[in-house]
Amino acid sequence: MQVPSHVEYERAASLEHALSLLTRPETRVLAGGHSLIPMMKLRLAQPELLVDINGLTELAYIRRDGGELRIGALARHADLLDSAVAGECFPIFQDAERVVADPIVRLWGTIGGSLCQADPSEDLSAVFAAVRATAVIRGQAGDRTVPVREFHLGPYETVVGPGELLAEIRVPVRPATGSAYEKVSRRVGDWSIAAAGAVLQLDREQSLIVSAGLGLTAVGAEHFVAAQAEEFLRGRAADEESFAAAAAIAAEHCHPAADQRGPQDYKRHLVAELTTRALRRAAARVSLEA
Ligand SMILES: Cc1cc2nc3c(=O)[nH]c(=O)nc-3n(C[C@H](O)[C@H](O)[C@H](O)COP(=O)(O)OP(=O)(O)OC[C@H]3O[C@@H](n4cnc5c(N)ncnc54)[C@H](O)[C@@H]3O)c2cc1C
Repeated sequence: MQVPSHVEYERAASLEHALSLLTRPETRVLAGGHSLIPMMKLRLAQPELLVDINGLTELAYIRRDGGELRIGALARHADLLDSAVAGECFPIFQDAERVVADPIVRLWGTIGGSLCQADPSEDLSAVFAAVRATAVIRGQAGDRTVPVREFHLGPYETVVGPGELLAEIRVPVRPATGSAYEKVSRRVGDWSIAAAGAVLQLDREQSLIVSAGLGLTAVGAEHFVAAQAEEFLRGRAADEESFAAAAAIAAEHCHPAADQRGPQDYKRHLVAELTTRALRRAAARVSLEA
């Protein structure tokens, strides 16, 4: 089946207009459409109304605001890849965006759409979990905030409710922090077989780990996080021994599925290797400035 069922279409003229339309049952936000339209063609999604938010340019920004990086839900993958301020604060974004799909998808696919799609293989879900971002969800009654680590309820399911949309993602910028993302896929532009993102905050001597954020893609990690490995790293030396031990813990505690991309043991092997590499690169990128 390659043809969507009948659907109504409204282009939102303002945020208020979008929010009022979203209160209707069986309504979906249309952002880049790179995930939603294929799902509609396959009839895995059959909304009755699409609310196109592409005219809401007030949701398309990436800026630093004091101790936070703020990313509007309508910022495109290409915007994040090209953003100097995002790259300075978190090189992990550019590592990941370089390997998300291809330039055509990146030009139109949005950051908000990636998170709301909640595909277990979505790269940015693990990245935003690693940097401990917060999602700002807007409804007619106002905003509510949810840690990205609590944003996904399961595959293709998030906490965004009827009448709401994801408006912004906020990321705390901390000093002495480095980050990196490592992905293996079958070919250029493909989804991950497995991927790992690491964020390390070190002490002022840059020897001990103050906190670690570890995100895993496509391997069944709960909320995309390697929580046990993060816990292990806290207070330890930022060295190869700690990284290898944490990576082994991450590989042990994830739940990869055997599929056309490979068997479970291969994916666990990738998790260990990619987590080690991401931690190593994150540590090398630590700068004392925030
Ligand atoms: C060929 C191809 C290859 C790809 N490869 C990768 C890859 O390697 N890695 C990767 O991570 N991704 C990949 N993607 C997915 C890509 O990142 C999409 O851009 C992303 O999944 C969805 O973004 P979108 O803006 O197109 O969302 P849409 O398709 O418009 O929407 C997706 C879902 O999110 C909802 N939604 C969108 N925006 C909001 C909002 N602001 N608030 C509430 N709900 C919202 C929609 O209603 C829909 O349910 C690929 C896509 C394609 C087509």
